[in-house]
This record gives sequence, structure tokens and C-alpha cells, in this order.
Amino acid sequence: MEGDQPAQHGRIMRRRDGFIADNPRIKLGIGDFDQTLELVELGDIELVDAGIGEAADDQIHFAHAAAPGAEQEPPPPLVQSCAGAFRHLLESTDTQTPKARTGPGQGYIEGDEGNVSGPGTTSPKASMRPTVLNPLFASLSSLPGIGPKLEKLYARLLGRDTEPPRLIDLLFHLPSGFVDRRNQPKLSEVTPDSVVTVAVTIDKHRPAPPHRPRAPYNIEASDDTNTLTITYFNARKDYLQKMFPVGEVRYVSGIATLYDRHLQMVHPDRVVDAEGFKNLPLLDPVYPLTEGLHPNQLRKAIDGALERLPALTEWQDRDWLALQAYPSFDEALRRLHRPQSLDDLSPENAAWSRLAYDEFLAGQLALALLRAHMRTRAGRGSAAEGLLRGRIIAALPYALTPSQQRAVTDIVADLAQPQRMLRLLHGDVGSGKTVVALLAAANVIEAGRQAAFMAPTEILARQHFATIAPLARAAGMRLAILTGRERGREREDILSGLAIGEIDLIVGTHALFQEHVAFHDLALAIVDEQHRFGVHQRLALARKGEAVDLLVLTATPIPRTLVLTYFGDMDVSELREKPAGRQKVDTRAVPLERLAETTDAVARALKAGRQVYWVCPLVEESESVDLAAAEARFTILQKRFGTAVDLVHGRMRGPEKDRAMERFAKGETRLLVATTVIEVGVDVPQASVMVIEHAERFGLAQLHQLRGRIGRGAEISTCILLYKAPLGPTAKARLAILRDTEDGFRIAEEDLRLRGQGDVLGARQSGMPGFRVARIEAHAALLPAARDDAALVLTRDPKLQSPRGQALRQLLYLFARDEAVSLLSAG
Ligand code: ADP
Ligand code: MG
Repeated sequence: MEGDQPAQHGRIMRRRDGFIADNPRIKLGIGDFDQTLELVELGDIELVDAGIGEAADDQIHFAHAAAPGAEQEPPPPLVQSCAGAFRHLLESTDTQTPKARTGPGQGYIEGDEGNVSGPGTTSPKASMRPTVLNPLFASLSSLPGIGPKLEKLYARLLGRDTEPPRLIDLLFHLPSGFVDRRNQPKLSEVTPDSVVTVAVTIDKHRPAPPHRPRAPYNIEASDDTNTLTITYFNARKDYLQKMFPVGEVRYVSGIATLYDRHLQMVHPDRVVDAEGFKNLPLLDPVYPLTEGLHPNQLRKAIDGALERLPALTEWQDRDWLALQAYPSFDEALRRLHRPQSLDDLSPENAAWSRLAYDEFLAGQLALALLRAHMRTRAGRGSAAEGLLRGRIIAALPYALTPSQQRAVTDIVADLAQPQRMLRLLHGDVGSGKTVVALLAAANVIEAGRQAAFMAPTEILARQHFATIAPLARAAGMRLAILTGRERGREREDILSGLAIGEIDLIVGTHALFQEHVAFHDLALAIVDEQHRFGVHQRLALARKGEAVDLLVLTATPIPRTLVLTYFGDMDVSELREKPAGRQKVDTRAVPLERLAETTDAVARALKAGRQVYWVCPLVEESESVDLAAAEARFTILQKRFGTAVDLVHGRMRGPEKDRAMERFAKGETRLLVATTVIEVGVDVPQASVMVIEHAERFGLAQLHQLRGRIGRGAEISTCILLYKAPLGPTAKARLAILRDTEDGFRIAEEDLRLRGQGDVLGARQSGMPGFRVARIEAHAALLPAARDDAALVLTRDPKLQSPRGQALRQLLYLFARDEAVSLLSAG
């Protein structure tokens, strides 16, 4: 790795140099310096820093399911990849940031969720939480220097949209790379375009002349071998004079360049005196950032959080810790934030692995507790001859695939058993899970009971409803829909229909498990999770009936080897083949330069009566930019295609979004410009063309999900991946895989393989959904161990009452798996 550095240095240098040289007028407000003479508040310089770390690429929320990848460029120079830094994808539970989501997840949780015992509901939880954890759950604004404005930035950075970010969120915000400041040559030995830390004596200040205030401010410095010019643009004179007192020695760290054959350093990253030098991190972590947040501010906040990190009772097995050479929890966090060696920055190291193991164990414990809870409540068999099923199948315009049939058989057998069913229906996008779920519902309805089908979004709920309605009618099942939108009289009618058993099947969103929703006799809860995870949603819905069977539908693109551990021990039905008659999607990668040609192709497709999705890139870091991109594209396309064009994006309100989707589904509009909001499960079979702009920014799994929106009809579909050249090797590989295959399982495996190569860009593509510190490529192997561990713990101590059990409760809180704690008390 280190061997690669010189070449890499060159790149960052150019970028940085270019940035400053081309933009000499960048306003650089230098605000204040703390004792170590670090810049603590800067204006635009963070743009430069963000360039170094490429940090902002990580601002991804899984809820948006719109993980943009990274740019196609290879990672910049000095930042050795140390992590996929993907934690924003990895919400630990669905309730963490429920309300303000945008993107496909918007509206996921709507209305009242008061009866859901999840981390979203604060007060009762806070009281159950072990007090030793309080410092970690304090809001970030309790740190000095963090006011409402910064708090907002941290909320964005840490994916806490609706609730104040806490110290623990910050501590789990791990570096994505580092800058190596160990190279400390004499000036005569400096290799230009590399990061150096040099000790120089300040000789002279050369401020910009009064008549040219935009000219740089230069400081001449030297050691006994050469001279160095330290250069600032738009800096404040008094601060620079304070920071660089003439005659004194200062240690400056940054990229040294040759300018006019003279050694220069523009805007050093760090300037310290001899005292400060002792504390200067030689391996300086680089963190994912967000617009407006300066690395030094983040660094300070992390230091503050580390200071308050309490030593916690160990919850891991001592022998296991010794065997793995894992440090304690607090030590692990310290090591990752204050790396002492290159090894401290790799996800494979003991510190990171320890945290990943902690996280897995918390997850596995929660799942195991849920499972135990579900299993201990005996189920009730719902046997049926299959009359309703037969009617539905007869009404289908197609035949079930063999794996659909197998899944139905499995489910029907489960339903007939007196034990509760806990089954996962795992199948790629478009594999036909909905109809399998409907057939399951038909079975319990025939037995005289009720079924509920919960979708993650309003759009999807409506779509399921629309799909199911004619089939339900054919079978004579009474169907209704309940979301946040049904109000007043209508809602009353639905609620009473459910309560007295006049509704057989209810489709809806989270509204389904609000407190006042009561069922006459709920037998089956179907939860369409797409790729979200909501242990407690499952639980809440399953609590609505006496012994509710649970069927979870998921398209989570994870390798088969991980499915079980990932979801806990559920029975699994898999839908492997695509429904018959499906055409392959003709997928092409086309450089953006051929945009005009692409638009012409779209014109031809529209003329031929086809419908087209045009997906705009998600620009991480700023939703407004994201939206602007979509709106700009919309305007351009509208000019050409007129009223046939429509726009849908995550900022639109639910009803508005649905209406746009509806117009498209009905064919009233035929070219739909969209942000990735369309990713989740939307089904418009007659749409057969998709253009994905800046495909290189999307992750593999995500591209696959998007593409799954087309190729649903009998027509041959076309997917055009517009990419910005030149592509980096990983981006190239990603697009090639996508062109090669439509098999989601294979794509998941390839994705893992690509990420396994330790490529930071690839690693950002998708993390382990549901996890914040674990990285799939580095830690997946720990998952089975965590599962066994969780099982063992609960066999010995099912209520987590032993000393270790008590400590493990802390772990559940730390990783936001504490909904499981309520199961312990609920017994
Ligand atoms: P997903 O698994 O992504 O939820 P859906 O249930 O939405 O997939 O099904 C996708 C499309 O495939 C729907 O339009 C559905 O009607 C259709 N479909 C489902 N099963 C079959 C089948 N066996 N043959 C043909 N089309 C099918
Ligand atoms: Mg679906």
C-alpha cells in the first residue's frame, strides 16, 4: 500500500493545487484558532479537504435506498482505503429516523407509531436504559462548541434526521481513511506533491499588497537546508501573524509543491508549535463529512466524545476476547479514532472486528429473542382445502413458476401446523412474491380468519392493493386498504370492518399496527420489507392477533450464504427463477457524451408506444442538488416531449407522488423522470425502457433494483446506463456485471467479491443493511459465530439476568437493538 503513495500524491496535489489556483477568489474566512493553532473554523477550505477524503460520498442512508456509489475516479491518493465507511446505509433499526425520510423510504412510517416499542419512542426506553450509558446517549449539543447550527449538520452526517444526534452516533462514525503525516523530511529532501510535515523557522510575512487584496498572503520559512513559502488566499492577516510568529519554529503539515522551482505549501492542513507537535496525530484520520462541516470541527467533537466514553462492563466472553485478541469496547473505539499504526485503520483489525462482532451479537440476540418470543406463543393451525387459492390461480393471467408453487406448498403446510410460522420469502425484484403472499392469505381466509399485508411505503401499499383487488374479487375475498391517508368516515368503516371480521384481507402501511387497529381474528401477517429490516415492525404486527403467523417478503440482495444469519433463524422459501415469458433486459453502458443519441433513442421508443423511466443521479450530500438535477433533466425533456413527461422525486408529498406514479401507470404520461424514489417495488409492466444517468454513481445492488422496474412485460426491455467516462476499474466491473446478468443472487455475490478486494469505492456500494459499523467484506465471517454465541447465551440465560446478561443488555442499547429488551420484560 505504501508503495503506491508517490503516484497517488501527485493526484491529490493536482486536484488541490488546481482547485486553489483556478479559484483564487475562494473566500477563506479564517475564524479562530485554538491553542494548538489548528484552524477551527474555515470557510470554503473544507471543499479541499472533502476532496482529499472523498468523504462526502458516504452520506448515504439506507432508507433512501439510493446509495449512490462514489465517483468513478479511483480513491484519492493519500487516503488509504480503510473502510467502506458505509454506516449511513446501515441504520440499525427502522425507527431511528423514521419521519423525515425522503426518497423511497418516505412515508414508510406514517401516522402514529406510539404503540411501537422501538427506539423512536423515547421516554419509557430512556428509563430502562442502564444509567452508565447515559453519557453516550447525551445529545451532541452537550459538547462544547456544538450549537444548533452544527447540531443540524451532525444530524445530517449521522443520519439522525428527526432526533438529536448523540455521542454514540458520533463515536460510531468511523474514519474512511487517513492522511499519513509521518514523512518528516528536511526541506531539501521533500518530494514535491507529497504530504510532508516539516519543522521550519518563520522568517518573514509578505501580506498581499494593499492594492491587490486578492493576492495571496505568503509567509517565508526555512530550515537549515532550504526555504519554504507558506501561502494563504483570503486569509486574515492578524490570525496568520498570531499563528506564524516571526523567529519561531512551527511544524506545518500539508502538501508541498514546487512553484517556480520554489518549495511551497498552500493552506497547510495543520500548523502547530513544538508543544502541539507532540500531540499531532501522525496518522490523521479522515472522516466522511457533510457539506459545511470542517474536518477540524469533527475531530474536536470526536475528541470530546472519546473523553466521555465510559469504561463499560465487558459483555463478551473473556476467552473469546483473548482468543481473538480483541480490545475492550472503549479501547476499540479509541484505537479506531486515534490510529497509531496503519493496522489500526483496517476493518480487519482487532478493534474494528470487535465492534463488528459486538454489533452482530446485538443483532443476533435481538433476532433470537424475537424468535423465542414468537415461538413460545403457540400458533393455531389454519387449514384449508385450497378453494380460494384455486380461484385466484384460475384468475391469474399466467401460470405460477415452479419455485412459486413450491413456496406456496411450504407456506400452506406451515399454516396448517399448530406452531407459529416464521418464514422468509426471499426473491429477487420481479420474482413474483406478491402473488405467493396473496395465496398464503387466501389460505387463512378460507379457514375463516384474517390476513394483513404490510408494505413499506404508501405507493407500494396502493400498488399491492391495485394488484390484489381483481384477484380478491375473483376469489370472493373482502379487501380493504389502510394507510395514513384514509381518514374520517372511511377510516372508521375500515376499522370496524376489521374488528368485526367483515374485512378478510387488509393491505396497508405502518398504519396497520397502530393501537386502535383491532382485528377480529388475525391469522397471518405479511410484511413486505423490500430491503428494510424492522424486527419490531414484524413484532408489532404479529402482536395484533392471538398467534399470528408471519411471512416476511424480502428482496435483500445478500449472498445466500448469509441469508439465515442475517434474518435470524427463519424458514426460507426462495424464488429463484424469473416468471416465464419475461424478456431479458438488454443492458448497455453508454458514455454521457452520447446523451443526445440516447435522447433520440428515447424519442423513438416513445413513438413506438413504449414507456420510459429516466433515473437521475442521486447526488449525495445535498438533496437539493439531487432534486435540481432531476428538475433540470425534466425541463429539458419536457421541452422536447411536452406533456408526455412527468417528474417524481422524494421531496414530493405522498399523494402527489402517488398521482404521478398513477398517471404513468395508466399511460397518461409516458416518460417519467425520477430520482431513485422509484426504486422500491413499483410495478408498471408496460414501461420497457430505463435510462440511468451517472450510473457509475450507483451501487451494484441498487442498479439491479432500479433495472428491476423494467423487463416486467412481454416486451424486450432496454436499460441504458449512462456513465461518465473514464470509468475506474470497479465502476467498470460493476457495469459489466450488470450487463452480463440479471440474477440478483449472482449480483449480490459479485458485489461482495468486488468489495472484498478492498476497494473503497466498491465498498460504498452497499453496506450491510441494518448495521452501522460492520462491513460485509471484512466481517461477514464473524456472523455465524455471533449467531452461535447468541444462541448459547440465551440457552443459559434466557432473560439476560446473569452479570453477563446484564452487560449484554447494554450492548443491545448501544447498537439500538433495545426493542428486544421489551421482550425480556414482556416475558
Ligand atoms: P416482487 O417479487 O418484486 O414483489 P411482484 O410480485 O411485484 O414481484 O411481481 C412482478 C410482476 O410479475 C407482476 O407484474 C406480477 O403480476 C408478475 N408475475 C408474478 N408471477 C408471475 C408468473 N408466474 N408469471 C408471469 N408473471 C408473473
Ligand atoms: Mg414486491
